[in-house]
Amino acid sequence: MDARFLNDWSGVAAGTPSEVHRPTNTDEVAAIVRRCQVQNQRITVQGGMTGLAGGAVPGDGDVVINLERMNRVEEVDALEGVMLVQAGATLQQVQEAAAQHGWMFPLDLGARGSCQVGGNAATNAGGIRVIRYGTMRDAVLGVEAVLADGTVVSSLSRLVKNSTGFDPRFLFIGTEGTLGIITRLTLRLQPPMGELSTAWVTASRFEALPELLRGLKLRLGPSLCAFEFMSGAFVSLAAPLSGQEPPAAASMPWHVLIEASGAPNRSADEELHAALADAMEAGHIDDCALASTIAHRQAFWRLRESIPEVLTHLKPTAALDIGMPWTQTADYMKEVGAALALAQPDAQHLFLGHLGDHNLHLISGPVDAQGLHAVDEIAYRALRGRHGTISAEHGVGRLKKPYLHMTRSPGEIELMRRLKQAMDPAQRLNPGRIFDDDKNGDTRC
Ligand code: FAD
Repeated sequence: MDARFLNDWSGVAAGTPSEVHRPTNTDEVAAIVRRCQVQNQRITVQGGMTGLAGGAVPGDGDVVINLERMNRVEEVDALEGVMLVQAGATLQQVQEAAAQHGWMFPLDLGARGSCQVGGNAATNAGGIRVIRYGTMRDAVLGVEAVLADGTVVSSLSRLVKNSTGFDPRFLFIGTEGTLGIITRLTLRLQPPMGELSTAWVTASRFEALPELLRGLKLRLGPSLCAFEFMSGAFVSLAAPLSGQEPPAAASMPWHVLIEASGAPNRSADEELHAALADAMEAGHIDDCALASTIAHRQAFWRLRESIPEVLTHLKPTAALDIGMPWTQTADYMKEVGAALALAQPDAQHLFLGHLGDHNLHLISGPVDAQGLHAVDEIAYRALRGRHGTISAEHGVGRLKKPYLHMTRSPGEIELMRRLKQAMDPAQRLNPGRIFDDDKNGDTRC
């Protein structure tokens, strides 16, 4: 069996699927699902296999439906800025098709060349532009999906507003393939961003970063399109692995990549520089490097996006995707950083994230299976009382289901179960993702 149908980026061990199908259209997907219903077979849905929660990893005997051949951009409405696309198109394909028609698809993330828009919708992906454009949920106008009994629901709206009862797209966005297989989508395109102004700043205290972000938001408004923070430890490791010299001393405790875009044909340089000069004077940042060429800008981003190199270098790794209010983040990192250093002293523990979207990533490694569990326990338990989430953007998948109850109330989990029961009573689609089929099957910690 080709390994690309077995493993995503989560490290979750795969079973042996009974069959792998690569359909080319919705009717073929529906026919496979109907046959699975007759033969009582379970299905694993696969997009680009870049997921970090194990949702696309097949179980023993599963029928795999892999969407990679459903990769056609069917139509771009260049007047209204709407795209109709098959779910297996990669994010990069969609970005390029939008650009060819003078528009922009705003979702962006490091795995853009491999992840698919269907997978992005199923996980409600976030990425590096959420601060300005929101998550995938905000970019999807309509969805076509195949239900667990093979019924095709086509809800490919092109309208921004449609207040006529339940909105089917929200059953499929962020539900990780448990309620239906997304086969086509209508996507909302945006006008291209104006000229980008990019800066790399450093700070000695994390507590200064929320103030910096607040100041930039108020001053730059919607021009602010990225605010990516990294610990000095992450930068020190990522720099040699990515071959990029850090724009500021890696030994500084905190680094932030900031980007702003001007109106079309206008640069935001002046506003960004003035805002950063004020932040420096207020003592919120210690140092600041501005990207003066496209090559500089790309080098800043290469350093920020060298997560695959870091994950590979520290393998086996725990890669967590926590979220919490800004005010909690500094204290949380102190508490968890200290506990991890004690529990896993031989591993590196690196923090980075998208502060504007309340998202904190933690990479710990190398850690063995016991160590992985210890990292989860420490990091998730410390979320208690902080109004946070165990997953801000990667999803629950197979990996995080024991911790779902730390983020969602019993009422919320019961509602999810009822929806699953109503739409897939035989638990055929992506079984054992988000929660176990059996009500008593959740591992409580
Ligand atoms: P897969 O991994 O194939 O599947 C993910 C889940 O979606 C599974 O449960 C699968 O069953 C389901 N699924 C896939 N396709 C469909 C479909 N058509 N219909 C129904 N269910 C489906 N994520 C972020 O949100 N933000 C980031 O910044 C980010 N950066 C990343 C950087 C790197 C280097 C890597 C490796 C991953 C990153 N991710 C990020 C995680 C990952 O890329 C996203 O979760 C992505 O949305 C997954 O898409 P995929 O097509 O690879 O889905």
